[in-house]
Amino acid sequence: MTTRQLLTSTTAAALLWAGGLTNPATAHAQEDVVGGPYDRLVIQGATLIDGTGGPPVAPVDIVVEDGTIADVRRVSALDLARGADRASGARTIDARGMWVMPGIIDAHTHLGHGDEIPADYIPKLWLGHGITTVRVFTSGGDDPAIEIARRQDAGGEVLAPRMVLYRFWRGDDPRFWSADGAREVVREWAAQGLYRGVKVSGKPGLLPDVLRAIGEETAEQGLGLAVHIGGDGVVPMDAVEVVKAGASTIEHHYGYAEASFEEKTVQDLPTDFDYGDELKRFRASARVWDESNRERLYGPVTDTLLEKSVHGRFTMVPTFSVYEDQTDLARARNLPWLDRYAHPVLMERWQPNPEVHGSFFFEWTSADEQAWARMFLKWLPWVDHFKDRGGRVAVGSDTGTSYHLYGFGTIRELELMQRSGFLPAEIARSATLESARAVGLEGRTGAIRPGYDADLLVLEMNPLEDFKVLYGTGVERVDRETGESTRLHGLRYTIVDGRVVDARAMLEDVAEMVAEAEGERRTEGGR
Ligand SMILES: [Zn+2]
Repeated sequence: MTTRQLLTSTTAAALLWAGGLTNPATAHAQEDVVGGPYDRLVIQGATLIDGTGGPPVAPVDIVVEDGTIADVRRVSALDLARGADRASGARTIDARGMWVMPGIIDAHTHLGHGDEIPADYIPKLWLGHGITTVRVFTSGGDDPAIEIARRQDAGGEVLAPRMVLYRFWRGDDPRFWSADGAREVVREWAAQGLYRGVKVSGKPGLLPDVLRAIGEETAEQGLGLAVHIGGDGVVPMDAVEVVKAGASTIEHHYGYAEASFEEKTVQDLPTDFDYGDELKRFRASARVWDESNRERLYGPVTDTLLEKSVHGRFTMVPTFSVYEDQTDLARARNLPWLDRYAHPVLMERWQPNPEVHGSFFFEWTSADEQAWARMFLKWLPWVDHFKDRGGRVAVGSDTGTSYHLYGFGTIRELELMQRSGFLPAEIARSATLESARAVGLEGRTGAIRPGYDADLLVLEMNPLEDFKVLYGTGVERVDRETGESTRLHGLRYTIVDGRVVDARAMLEDVAEMVAEAEGERRTEGGR
């Protein structure tokens, strides 16, 4: 058996749920709650952040039965004095002085990375950051997300967030090119029962009639339609046209500036432009915002998107954080968590390379960073404005390219939403309730209500005060008097479908995988 085979078979076993995990990193009086799902689990006395954007409230008892939220009740000191009962159960988390919020839903992720990376590496980074559901865009085949989703659908216990699969509109099938063929393909995918949606990008020259057919048929079949507008995707359409064609989410920032154009319909690109050239592509794509028309963007463009968001099924998934390397490359390459948590295989892939998507920075200038900074100044406040007027915005990280690490990148997305102008409670709502809607799980997860899946986070620090407490590396606090530095990590438990996961143990496992892989590389290098 080769090392690689060994790695794959042991990690497949590691993905199976191991009930009663203990936390090697921290001894804790409540560690016996790790595992489940239990007949009855009670989280007692927490401050509740319910995912709706409403104000936090305390103290609240949450009762979970067999993975479903059974009861949420506020039990004040006065109630207790009057003889009210606390909810109690066989397993209890004493959450006095702690916070509980719905699990984070990351609406834009990818998982497949080949078997050089242990299969549980990415899921554990997610669970260590409170991510309980991910929408995964996949080409099918041997993507590990498919195996995980299958096991989850069959009621199997897998140590991973819930996977919502969207199938890429990609492949050799000639039916991809015609409206009738497209309808047939969507019906086939829907009948498989595995996919909850279609992701359109990377199909050169897809025409509007085909996208409209996909939009209609996905809606008919109860599937979502995620669109990445771009030169190798939906060439001739802007965001307004794509939303009218039936997109349920638009990923990234493309197509909005174009929709605001008044005296042209496409970006004025240099004549030697080549979308296949990553450097040219990323240089041009920020600069399209220089050509945007502010009045039209905030007027008719916003109006149409709003109409489709409030009365239709549209949600915006900006993925701000995937563009941070463009605005500040040195920052992106020196993030404090890369050392301990980034797998060496990823770090190697993220080296500048014209052949790798997103690794455009073999030549990246201060002027390029300035163009992206300029674009951020237009784009971020506009997304905030869309939200202010009632538009729905979900949290998506698109982690996995150029130093944008799983888990950490999702938390960074929350911070960038805050930079754009969202209030902390609005960000929490985007990360939960609105992301649930975006991935088609509205009414099942994304809020703390009886009947919903028990996807919950138990935190020792208040995330609304500082989203950084969610980072696996925590936050540093220095005592004013003594100068003593402490590192605090806010997330204690990630609960997925009633299964209690020790968030810190997940991160310790990840750090071990990284250390092991680095050790192996050193040995190989020395031979
Ligand atoms: Zn992506």
